[in-house]
Amino acid sequence: MIEAVLWDVDDTIFDFSGSERAGLLRHFAAEGLPSDEAALERWRRITDAEYGRFAAGELTYEQQRRRRVRGFVGRPVGDGDADAWYGRYEVLFEAAWTAFPDVAAVLDALPYRQGILSNSSTVHQERRMSALGLRHHFEVLLCSDRLGCAKPDRSAFLAACEALGLPPSKVAYVGDRLDVDAVGAHRAGLTGIWLDRAGAEAAVPEGVFRITALGELSGLLSSR
Ligand SMILES: [Mg+2]
Repeated sequence: MIEAVLWDVDDTIFDFSGSERAGLLRHFAAEGLPSDEAALERWRRITDAEYGRFAAGELTYEQQRRRRVRGFVGRPVGDGDADAWYGRYEVLFEAAWTAFPDVAAVLDALPYRQGILSNSSTVHQERRMSALGLRHHFEVLLCSDRLGCAKPDRSAFLAACEALGLPPSKVAYVGDRLDVDAVGAHRAGLTGIWLDRAGAEAAVPEGVFRITALGELSGLLSSR
């Protein structure tokens, strides 16, 4: 019997991709820059490259952010101006924050204890869940920055189960990434559920579950 559901946040509860897209398009337009698909693609390409260098330890977090701004605007920009440019984007991104439309009703109705386990920053996710009016649903909110380990490592899932005081066999995990979320949870002994909103219909490994909308979750859990 499942007693608790742990959730991923980005692109599971919080429409990260949609919010980011809306924030970027508004920001580019406000800065007098082209605001279209090509601009988004160019921003993503620059972001992937510079963030990769940050992840590899070659750049600090601030450096990669400033390099993304300079690469995108295509001219020299001082540190202060680059930070201000990024700050104006963040304001518009936050104004665009939205949860997926099926989230609130499902969180309200689920007859299980609930928590969050996210590969992100605790401060960011606390702010997002509060801003979206969803924070009260979750007994625990655990992120990799404070856990010191990240999905798909077993230790991240086990730490979240321990925080709930439950064995993994009584906990389900719901996330939008098959490998990092659902398979990782399954390997740690939880019920791993892949939220495949795009309906990718990829092959799902034995023992892992796939849903395409949150409305399917309750039926799946009650059969466990
Ligand atoms: Mg996610």
